[in-house]
Amino acid sequence: MSAVLPHVVEGRRIEVRGIVQGVGFRPQVVRLARARGIVGEVRNVGTAAVIDAYGMPAALRDFEARVRGLGRGGLRVDSLVSSTIAVPAQPPAVFEIAPSAAAQPGLGVAPDWATCPACVAETLDPFSRRYRYPFTACTDCGPRLSVFQHAPYDRAHTTMARFPLCADCAREYADPDDRRFHAQATACHACGPKATLRRLDGHAFSLDALTSLDAIDAATTLIGKGEILLVKGLGGYQLACDAMNADAVARLRDLKRREAKPFALMVRDVDMLSAFCAVDAPALAALTSAAAPIVLLPRGAALLAPGVAPGLASLGVMLPPTALHHLLMRRRRAPIVLTSGNLSDEPQAITLDDAAARLGSHVNYVLDHDRAIERRVDDSVGRVVAGTFRVMRRARGHAPAPLPLPPGFDASVKVLALGGDLKNTFALLRDGNGLLSQHIGDLHDAACLADQQRALADYERFYAFEPDRVAHDAHPGYASTRLAQERYAGRTVAVGHHHAHIAACLGEHGWPLDAGPVLGIALDGLGFGDEGELWGGEFLLADYRTCTRVGTFKPVALLGGDAAAREPWRCTYAHLMAEMGWPRFAMNYAELELFRWLEAKPRALLDGLFADPVLAPRASSVGRLFDAVAGAIGLCRERVAYEGEAAMQLEALIGADDLAEDSELDYPFAIPRLDKGRGLPYVEPLAMWQALLGDLILATPPARIAARFHRGLAAVIVRFAAQLAEKHDVTTVALGGGVFQNRVLAELVLHGLAGAGLTALLPRQVPVNDGGLAWGQALVALAHATRSH
Ligand SMILES: [Zn+2]
Ligand SMILES: [Zn+2]
Repeated sequence: MSAVLPHVVEGRRIEVRGIVQGVGFRPQVVRLARARGIVGEVRNVGTAAVIDAYGMPAALRDFEARVRGLGRGGLRVDSLVSSTIAVPAQPPAVFEIAPSAAAQPGLGVAPDWATCPACVAETLDPFSRRYRYPFTACTDCGPRLSVFQHAPYDRAHTTMARFPLCADCAREYADPDDRRFHAQATACHACGPKATLRRLDGHAFSLDALTSLDAIDAATTLIGKGEILLVKGLGGYQLACDAMNADAVARLRDLKRREAKPFALMVRDVDMLSAFCAVDAPALAALTSAAAPIVLLPRGAALLAPGVAPGLASLGVMLPPTALHHLLMRRRRAPIVLTSGNLSDEPQAITLDDAAARLGSHVNYVLDHDRAIERRVDDSVGRVVAGTFRVMRRARGHAPAPLPLPPGFDASVKVLALGGDLKNTFALLRDGNGLLSQHIGDLHDAACLADQQRALADYERFYAFEPDRVAHDAHPGYASTRLAQERYAGRTVAVGHHHAHIAACLGEHGWPLDAGPVLGIALDGLGFGDEGELWGGEFLLADYRTCTRVGTFKPVALLGGDAAAREPWRCTYAHLMAEMGWPRFAMNYAELELFRWLEAKPRALLDGLFADPVLAPRASSVGRLFDAVAGAIGLCRERVAYEGEAAMQLEALIGADDLAEDSELDYPFAIPRLDKGRGLPYVEPLAMWQALLGDLILATPPARIAARFHRGLAAVIVRFAAQLAEKHDVTTVALGGGVFQNRVLAELVLHGLAGAGLTALLPRQVPVNDGGLAWGQALVALAHATRSH
């Protein structure tokens, strides 16, 4: 070989960040380079990919532009930094993938991607060798996190290791021009995992009566006959039944001990989707993305079994995430309910023994397979708010994709953040990237807590991660706080709940560390604020390092402590007593059904609680304000079946007509100051309550009441924000907290803030609810560890 190839005249080093590992990035780079006569190599370094390329200048420019434009499947190029390097005296003869150094920590794990269109087409093509193969995958799609055992990510270190490639698959795997070049999870009928349909009680049965095709087709038949089936999905066992069959859905509710929380649906394809839901372009883009999350969509005309999503105007819907699910839906004319294989709020089972132990006596059949699930990964959930898809539960397809750190942070400090106790996730920061774990769940559940420990150990191992700082919520009673103190004593940083919500929003939007404070609006159920106060409706002047409360909602008693979050009438009663007291309520509103209902409660006993700071602590919670309003109009008054139900039902009442009313009818709120005018300004709901109770006397339809409440609340939030922004000389507003999952409220607030000339930020990739707390906590802790300039 010649010393310098005649065409090699320039060398470039290109460092690419984003989601570039385990997603077929390097094979695509090889193809692009070879097609342009470029030699060199591509390798994974930490969480980035580095390319050394030698070739003609024009070819290199074109190559770089193509690399920047790569985005097939789950791949995402966030940034590309290119510099000139010397051409070696002995340049490489070809372009190839350099082996990853095995000892090198920080090799990223990619999320699990939904089956790509090319693999779906192959699976449905009778002339393909993967016809009806339920585990068809390529470099653009298939399992990652759910099968990953240890770094570096290649087949030997996944649960696919026990399926050696057949000659055909091996040829594809070695061919740079093939879609399966270096596809770690590729397989086929000859060499890969197999699906089986079995009776859970072990009794033999014949598939012949159900199908002439295969086990999956027989499973489709069983669902059509009204059976509830256990199905081994990508990240856990699931339960499936016919969404049109009221009896099957009711039995599924019984079996899961899940009273009212909505079930998610799976549809066959986009055509079926449009019959059952109203879908717009951003929702469609999310549904068909490589993440393939559950998307909350407005209900369409076609009717489903009433038990699918009782009282709600939206449905959680997904497209089939794997070839197995595509095949299961192939002959279906209507959606199926697809929900995690567990009881109420327990974590999803990932082994058949576990699933059978918990559900076995109520389920007859399981559609199983022999590829082990290494770790639980739930379905991701999100919805479109103000034209943008927002993740509400970050799991399959989203976790653990990296989140780039905003400018200004010290990338050398390693931070772990343990999140909150509800909707728990945890976060790791290192080398300029953040990583937010998959959704874990509610840490009050012992199984979820154990799951968190396992997942945490996993990530510490994958990334050889030993944190310098460990952030946790300021609440002393949280399980996550105790864990921080027990395991990481001396390195802990307590972060205010609402500060973390705002930091999470800022961080995702790339707000630089030293860009100064913004106005944060954090609205949620409850979190620990300064001096142990209970907060949930806060206006904060905040950046990553500091957080000062500059406004709030009126603090009202949580009557009965935790019981107030379960029984909305307690919030209604507490609000009415705080605003007007019983005699005035009785004098003006005795004709209301609400009055008679509350009158029947043991009022003397309840009123005795108001003085007790433990049984009736005061909280500025907007979540409980929603409960109070829902309870007043009779929605979930007695109790909620799941967290947030009352607010969701209230939002669900509102139609487009209701929002189009004259704004004069919006319920009014005032903004006086606490402590007789000396303290913080706060949102005072007295006038809202008077208007609402007046509407109840006039028998105003509940939908109108719900709309007037939402519009009035949004209006006061915007007015308050505008005042505070002017006073504190800021123009950016960051929103956080679970209340902003409410699409109607979030859109009204965003619209109003824009109208007031303010820039409003609402999270997209990080959940706005407590699922995003860990990311915010980590940024606050890292900000404190970064020296200011
Ligand atoms: Zn594919
Ligand atoms: Zn094969």
